[in-house]
Amino acid sequence: MKKSFLGLLRLAPLALIVPLLAPPVAQAAGEGQSPIDIRPENSVFSALPPLQFNFNSDTALNVVNTGSPDPEKSLRANVSSGAGKLMVSGHEWDLAQFHFHTPAEHLLNGVVAPMEMHLVFSDPSSSNLLVVGRWINESNSANTALDPIFSHLPQTTSDTLNIDHFNLNTLLPANLESFRYPGSLTTPPFSENVSWINLAQPLDLSKGQIDAFRALFPEGNAREVQDVHGRFVQTDVPGFATAVPEPETYAMLLAGLGLIILATRRQHSMRSIMPAALVSIA
Ligand SMILES: [Zn+2]
Repeated sequence: MKKSFLGLLRLAPLALIVPLLAPPVAQAAGEGQSPIDIRPENSVFSALPPLQFNFNSDTALNVVNTGSPDPEKSLRANVSSGAGKLMVSGHEWDLAQFHFHTPAEHLLNGVVAPMEMHLVFSDPSSSNLLVVGRWINESNSANTALDPIFSHLPQTTSDTLNIDHFNLNTLLPANLESFRYPGSLTTPPFSENVSWINLAQPLDLSKGQIDAFRALFPEGNAREVQDVHGRFVQTDVPGFATAVPEPETYAMLLAGLGLIILATRRQHSMRSIMPAALVSIA
């Protein structure tokens, strides 16, 4: 069993990677939702296409409160187009904004981190989105790079915080090992056109910084974990994944891939997302 699975892996490494980076595999409506609990038994170890971030080290941010304490809202930092690029699998994505949730939306083997950051990337050529997530842990010292945001969090929707000089690279870890899966927006309209990449290395904030955010969302602003419905997470984190899918599952996946991508594209062209809606994602 193990040998034949590895054989398949060798035969079709690209086809295994494509579903997570191309438009997500189409499933029955509502069966490709986010967030999920990323667990060893639903994760497969795989070499993954490298993430090439090209982030501006001195850019302006426009930070807004999209409607606290509404649990579907957040604190969002809008980023100028072109300031944050991500190249993966030969495809270039543009960072539109980043925002925060408390507690974390994705669970890691059942563990809930205090917060999670989402870097939302758009694709100028389609309505697809890619979100890079990072868990946030509590540390003893304040995160100085994020302090200009967290020490002046806009308290209401009418407050705006403009930061003239921000280094986007401070949002990225040194180690880019990740968990990748096809999912959805975690706020309405929950569209299933989102490729998720959760970085394994967490970001640290102090208790004071986390408390400042929690004060705005006393009941939290995280969607509950959704059923994985047979999806697999691909990860290059050594020693995490334990899932060994039946070879038949992959054979079916590979055979159906062409049709599925076509179907997904057709579906997306029918209900494409307007740029204005993209910016409103919390
Ligand atoms: Zn989010």
